[in-house]
Amino acid sequence: MLQANRVSQITVLSEPVLSAIPGIVHGFSTRRAEHNAFTLGPLGSENPAVQINRARFQAAVGMIGWPLLKLKQLHSNIVLDLRDTLAASQPVDGDGGITSLGGLALGIQTADCVPILIADQKARVVAAVHAGWRGTAGRIVEKAIKQIVGVYGVQAEDLIAVIGPHNAVCCYEVGEEVVTAIDDPEAIVRKPEWAKPHLNQALANKNQLLKAGVPESQIVLSNLCTQCREDLFYSYRRDGARTGRLLSVIGIRP
Ligand SMILES: [Zn+2]
Repeated sequence: MLQANRVSQITVLSEPVLSAIPGIVHGFSTRRAEHNAFTLGPLGSENPAVQINRARFQAAVGMIGWPLLKLKQLHSNIVLDLRDTLAASQPVDGDGGITSLGGLALGIQTADCVPILIADQKARVVAAVHAGWRGTAGRIVEKAIKQIVGVYGVQAEDLIAVIGPHNAVCCYEVGEEVVTAIDDPEAIVRKPEWAKPHLNQALANKNQLLKAGVPESQIVLSNLCTQCREDLFYSYRRDGARTGRLLSVIGIRP
């Protein structure tokens, strides 16, 4: 279960299972700082306040000065293999990143979509994945695990995966086109009191992780809903396009 820590006025969430791995640094941001408006995005934002907030957040999680991978997050299933910290200097097309380099922060911005942080138990490789419904339909997290196994020779049974705060099944109403695209009956929930089906984004991604070989005991699901928890999170569905952004980061200590 995610734990909240207050560091230099900023409330940061962390998962003890990841914190326990020597050499791994990670954190999930919230909107809580001095005011309830700590935004880490959007990505292309020129707003100096966003730049300062990012630096503060990185300092709070222990990544001072680390280059931050800037994924454009196109709702694709593109997962980049990062072999060079220069790769973090420009925004790049993709919705996931994998690296074995120390001192590179892999970051995912969300405001309802699912951030997934992945680490090898021996801290040889980390990955960060952005899975909204389109990315989930494109099976991006399953693809990321296959890349880790194929490229880095790390076995899926050695990986820990943490599915962070997202718009949960209580609130995440979807249309029939999403039901068709996701193709996972277990992840679609219908109730008489709901006008439309709801998608359990966490379960859909958990099922993909299981299929890719990550043991169930090593998959952690956050039950925190971005739409319900206005005190902690931004939500695109609740607040609209102008809402702030959350940032989830993971990296290997240099
Ligand atoms: Zn909810």
